Amino acid sequence: MRFIADAMLGKLARWLRLAGQNVTYIGDYRVPAEKQDEILIEWAKDRNRTLLTCDIGLHRRAKRAGVRSVYIRGADVAEQLVQVSKQSGKKIQIDPRSSRCPMCNGNLILVGKESVRDEIPVSVLKTHREFWRCKSCNKVYWQGKHWKTIIEMAERCEKMRG
Ligand SMILES: [Zn+2]
Repeated sequence: MRFIADAMLGKLARWLRLAGQNVTYIGDYRVPAEKQDEILIEWAKDRNRTLLTCDIGLHRRAKRAGVRSVYIRGADVAEQLVQVSKQSGKKIQIDPRSSRCPMCNGNLILVGKESVRDEIPVSVLKTHREFWRCKSCNKVYWQGKHWKTIIEMAERCEKMRG
């Protein structure tokens, strides 16, 4: 299952990518605001993606058009992830090793220290052994503070799911 998120759900889209989900985020494209609803429904349909929206009107319109849609409530990302998980029937787990690039939705691959030597701070090189590179935008990731936040978020999700 793949997703497409409306312009209000950028944060959720990035978190879902970190959870390894394939997510198109409309905010990554230059689509004029007045065209976005139409494009979201069109892309969801043509590209077989489940729409994620916090706009009840758009959610209903998508349903009428035969598009799978999940209506997202509230601003808390952990809670939103649980909603996606429950309503889409897809188990969402945050595992750094199966993450996608939060910035561009590309696949991350484990790379050697040598290949990232010139791109990251020396202090990080000294304290980390594993690095990932996005195949699409080349951004380098490592298990720093950011990853700790992800793990905490995953734990909160688990608790909420009960
Ligand atoms: Zn990327």
